Amino acid sequence: MRAVTTTNTRVLFVKRPVGWVDESSFAVVHEPMPEPGPADVLVRTIYLSVDPYLRGRMAGAFREGEVMVSRGVAEVVSSGHERWKPGDLVWGFLGWEQYGVVRRGEGLYPVDAGLGLPISYSVDVLGMPGLTAWVGMDVLGRPAPAETVFVSSAAGAVGSIAGQLARLAGARVVGSAGSPAKVRHVVDELGFDDCIDYRAAPSLDAALEAACPAGIDVYFENVGGPMLEAVLGRMNPLGRIPVCGLISGYNATDDPGVRGFAHILGKRLTVTGFSIYDHMWRFEAWQPKMAELVRSGAVRYHEQFSDGVESGPSAFVGMLKGDSMGKHLLRVGDDPTR
Ligand code: NDP
Repeated sequence: MRAVTTTNTRVLFVKRPVGWVDESSFAVVHEPMPEPGPADVLVRTIYLSVDPYLRGRMAGAFREGEVMVSRGVAEVVSSGHERWKPGDLVWGFLGWEQYGVVRRGEGLYPVDAGLGLPISYSVDVLGMPGLTAWVGMDVLGRPAPAETVFVSSAAGAVGSIAGQLARLAGARVVGSAGSPAKVRHVVDELGFDDCIDYRAAPSLDAALEAACPAGIDVYFENVGGPMLEAVLGRMNPLGRIPVCGLISGYNATDDPGVRGFAHILGKRLTVTGFSIYDHMWRFEAWQPKMAELVRSGAVRYHEQFSDGVESGPSAFVGMLKGDSMGKHLLRVGDDPTR
């Protein structure tokens, strides 16, 4: 446990964005250390997760003037709750701040040090993004050996895992990503069979035809927009589309609609939107299995770090624009296990 300083750097959400979010929606402030109540837990933040869904919360759930919140990993500094003691490593929804008070310790979970993997994995490959990939691919997509699976945002936090799970199921896996470096990472490091640089492709239809000559049986949807429309035209009859995310529209001010919707009827496709919050009951049984896949090297994972909580606004805006590879995390405080 590190010594407590006297000031607390925090990132506040101060302006609801309209259209593309920029750093003016945030304010970095330096405030006195928070004072926990008798039953509260004071935590020192170590890692914070930079996630696309936060853009949706900035459109509604977050209130202006409040601290930004996302999943993170922290160390307990002091505790008035019997469940936690100083030095414990925990994960849960945390403020974007160096130190935070968790009222009555609610919503904190232990980091399982026994898994033998970096503690940051609690909020990525062994946390929400990992479970999301597994539910979308193994529960809803259900790829069979030799089927073709296509994954958009394949170099991202969720897509990178989803594609590797499909590979382990014996499918032929093709991804899309937004730069030559990401395409190389997806093929060379993650073991996808092919990957399209969708930003450079003159025609998505032609790129998909070349990369998926036998059509697409499962599309793990992370982005929506023109990619979804192109994929609908390439889907095979009875194909499955788990709809995980639609990031291409998160900063849009109107709904662009979807061309090619008739393919869903004509090809008898199963299109299933899902929220990971409906699947949290699977977490306990799933996490040790995922940890084993990571420990054995069957699933590889890339993390990208920005240092300091004050780097949160630029990291978040950059992540939405495609600057991140794998999971983007803020490294807020020292990790006592590294
Ligand atoms: P990612 O790491 O995939 O998201 C960031 C990446 O999205 C960027 O690096 C960029 O990569 C890509 N991207 C941004 N804009 C576009 C665009 N217009 N077209 C195509 N790609 C774009 O995030 P996550 O892995 O955390 O999440 C993936 C998706 O899953 C998101 O849509 C997210 O909201 C959703 N999600 C849904 C959950 C659920 O419960 N349903 C739970 C968790 C996540 P590139 O350079 O390749 O463009």
